[in-house]
Amino acid sequence: MPIRQQIQQIFRPKHFEFDASIRETITILYPNISWEFVDCIDGLPWFMQQSSVIGTVLPSTGGGTKLRLYCKNYHQLSTSEKLDLIVHEAYHIQQYLDTKSCRISIVNWGFNRRFIRLYIAWYLQLAVRAVFMQKAWREIPQLAYRMHPLEIPAYAQEESFRQWRIAYQNSNQAGRWDSLICSESQVVTHTKVAYRIIATLFCMSIALISPVVECLGKGLSYILGYNSSYYQDNSE
Ligand SMILES: [Zn+2]
Repeated sequence: MPIRQQIQQIFRPKHFEFDASIRETITILYPNISWEFVDCIDGLPWFMQQSSVIGTVLPSTGGGTKLRLYCKNYHQLSTSEKLDLIVHEAYHIQQYLDTKSCRISIVNWGFNRRFIRLYIAWYLQLAVRAVFMQKAWREIPQLAYRMHPLEIPAYAQEESFRQWRIAYQNSNQAGRWDSLICSESQVVTHTKVAYRIIATLFCMSIALISPVVECLGKGLSYILGYNSSYYQDNSE
């Protein structure tokens, strides 16, 4: 892909709306989430371009209330894949709400939110533990991710939903899905102080750097010119 198009894709990404069936499902499963506070973006943020992540929920750059739901190649996923992914990511949005991370305050601004600080602190703590378990360097990120106490319940919810969906598709009879309805998430908060401090410094740095990088990136993409084919190719 030409560099100009890559810059446009990163800094002026295409937003997407949920299909009616997906919106209906997640509204039932997550009754406490106000989706008008969530921007849905087809792609990943500038600092995660090299990662293998397919979806993530991160704080918006400005303010302290909005979130961004990033999905890589969202339009190339089937409806079932979209549903499974959104059910997982919506669980993280519920975790943001349950940790009071969507209210602007001295400890909640820009990228620097309670939930993301907690998430990174856990990740660092588990990565260091994996080092002491003498795991290969290549295995450490995946191990820290799989042992992550904020990911475990999200994957459990995704898997329960997947099983319900497959059973429904095979029998065409909707079984009861009351157990999938999530009004409150599981959040384990007791990380070690040292990792919390590092996570806080990292989040504050991203909160300060991100608006500048995004502003420069947007400016650069305008200077390089509007590439209409990118937007037409990706339109619904
Ligand atoms: Zn997750």
